[in-house]
Amino acid sequence: MCSEYEKSVEVNKMKMPECERDDCRFVHRSGMTTLAYYQPIYDKNGVNINPDMNTRTDYVDCLICGKKWIACTERNQTTYEELKNA
Ligand SMILES: [Zn+2]
Repeated sequence: MCSEYEKSVEVNKMKMPECERDDCRFVHRSGMTTLAYYQPIYDKNGVNINPDMNTRTDYVDCLICGKKWIACTERNQTTYEELKNA
């Protein structure tokens, strides 16, 4: 009964940093973004041909392990860099 809902959750879920426990909980804190506004422009197939090219930097903490990461998001791809001794 819930399968459609679960599928949509699967599609929309965020990529999270690698962390060691199964019960890790992550907190996202907003950081900086380059503030250019990209007006979406769509072709006939509904594909955005002017994607957001801003780079944003957020901070992610694991509440369980106390690890911290910097999350860099560019063109909807997020990469995580662990902050050691932070
Ligand atoms: Zn963790």
